[in-house]
Amino acid sequence: MTASDALLTLPPVARPGDPLPAVDTPALLLDLDAFERNVRQMQAAADSAGVALRPHAKAHKCVTIAQAQMAAGAVGICCQKVSEAMPFVQAGIPDILISNEVVGAAKAGQLARLAGRTRLSVCVDHELQVEQLAQACEAAGSRLDVLVEINIGQDRCGVADADAVLRLIDALCQYPDTLRFKGLQAYQGALQHVRGVEARREAVQRATDRAAAVLQSLQAQGVVCETVTGGGTGSAAFDLGLGLYTELQPGSYVFMDADYGRNDVADEGLRFEHALLLASTVMSEGVGDRAVLDAGLKSLSAESGMPWVWEAGGRSPRWDYVSANDEHGLLQCRAPGSAKPALGTQVLLVPGHCDPTLNLHDQLVVHRQGRVEALWAIEARGLSR
Ligand code: PLP
Ligand code: MN
Repeated sequence: MTASDALLTLPPVARPGDPLPAVDTPALLLDLDAFERNVRQMQAAADSAGVALRPHAKAHKCVTIAQAQMAAGAVGICCQKVSEAMPFVQAGIPDILISNEVVGAAKAGQLARLAGRTRLSVCVDHELQVEQLAQACEAAGSRLDVLVEINIGQDRCGVADADAVLRLIDALCQYPDTLRFKGLQAYQGALQHVRGVEARREAVQRATDRAAAVLQSLQAQGVVCETVTGGGTGSAAFDLGLGLYTELQPGSYVFMDADYGRNDVADEGLRFEHALLLASTVMSEGVGDRAVLDAGLKSLSAESGMPWVWEAGGRSPRWDYVSANDEHGLLQCRAPGSAKPALGTQVLLVPGHCDPTLNLHDQLVVHRQGRVEALWAIEARGLSR
């Protein structure tokens, strides 16, 4: 390595054995003990309900995490985009659902080529997607399982009713050598963050009723839906008891961001821990009762609310993160008279929304009880095609 190469090579953010205050910032920290408990809790709940777990990898984009979820008993993973699936296919994850629609020859072609390497499934809500997938699979000599997505109240993707599902099944049946109807995707994202337990339970029930009506109508017409997939971190505790889903696809539960932290949780419900923190540093003393951190919008997403300041295993009673600039974050004192954190102090934050935050980082600094164990690559970071 020449001297100028060395100058342009950043030293690692941390090394195994380092204590957390030695981690260079901004850096994402993953508490392995809390993460492992989250993974085990969701898997155990799914197992005891007899529902398969297919965790969503868009939350973490990290092969090592997907492998841990598979080792715990997941049947496979979800990805939201074709390119996002690539590092997981490469790493040998044996069963991946693209829980989303794919349109256009470039994406269909890439998906069909990946399907030659691992078991892949994808959603459709229009005949054109079916046609393009079939053409791509024929060209690649591969096969895809296909789920028809139904709209159960989010008004995002998905067809409206059983008749529309039947039309798409007819379309799929024209390509028996390449495409196979596997079942339904029924996902309602808008209800995941309904704060109150009862209000969320009712919203889940309404969405489930819509999906069940479509499913019953299909069954009455002799259609077999091997898989009914959907659900997320906020709905899982209810989904598992309602008998609709054969498979759940929650993602954020491994980390628990501040947005999910604002959900009330039933006493008997699933309770996940904040395993993901962003380490930042007070980089300037700031004006008055403010302090300035080195972590802003390039290190965390704030569209679902500001991060929480994390102190002694809980939300800080003294400090709020009130404003995110590109590379600065402003801390404001909530308890007047508290001493400001000194210049250079490391401040831990619970990111507002985990999925887009992970997409901003190359790696997770993985630690146990305050000591760095490893750096895990976030391989699918930036893969949004
Ligand atoms: N499935 C689909 C289709 C989604 O879009 C999402 C999240 O937006 C999830 C599952 C997982 O949700 P969460 O991370 O809230 O558990
Ligand atoms: Mn999310």
